Amino acid sequence: VFVSFEGIDGSGKSTQARALADRLRAQSDNVVLTREPGGAAGAEDIRRLLVEGDPDRWSPETEILLFNAARRDHLEKTIRPALEAGKIVICDRFADSTRVYQGAARASLRPLVDKLHDLVIGVEPDLTFLIDMDPQAALARGLARQSGEDRFEELGAEFQTRLRAGFLALAQAHPERIRVIDGAHSPEIVADQIEAEMRDWLRA
Ligand code: C5P
Repeated sequence: VFVSFEGIDGSGKSTQARALADRLRAQSDNVVLTREPGGAAGAEDIRRLLVEGDPDRWSPETEILLFNAARRDHLEKTIRPALEAGKIVICDRFADSTRVYQGAARASLRPLVDKLHDLVIGVEPDLTFLIDMDPQAALARGLARQSGEDRFEELGAEFQTRLRAGFLALAQAHPERIRVIDGAHSPEIVADQIEAEMRDWLRA
């Protein structure tokens, strides 16, 4: 079973991905928690190329290629082997992030994102939890984290608003896969809701 978590920066998706993994691990050792960009040795190297350094280092097109290179490595080395071994893979971000972030940066890039995905990735999660958040609240949380090394976290509230709309539009287009979760509640309440939806899904 392949599960992804999506949301704008500071939405709490990483916390929630970890919470779901911890809760499922209480009953099973068949759970793999991973993240994008990264999640495999080569993909983590590509992550550094993407998130560190000069924001203008890569053109938007090159950036899309790097995200796809990282994702392909992650798929080959981590996700696919785990799924073939019957594990539950929980991934913090997947292709929806590229659709929304790179598509939101420039709408005309969406066809390139979609074509590349079909060519080199070609899989979707079985289930995606979109943690929906007000950008102002999420930005405050994101800034509170102060990782410092991540150039993407300097994106402003206006950009985060576009991202939120992009994620919600994707959820509307793919209701069979994407569950929208209200991220404004406390982390425990959000985690309870996600765990309940996950258990329903596993039973169905
Ligand atoms: O989720 P995480 O904070 O680890 O992601 C790292 C950064 O990469 C984020 O700040 C996000 O804005 C950015 N990102 C992106 N395009 C993607 C995935 C992530 O711009 N496809």
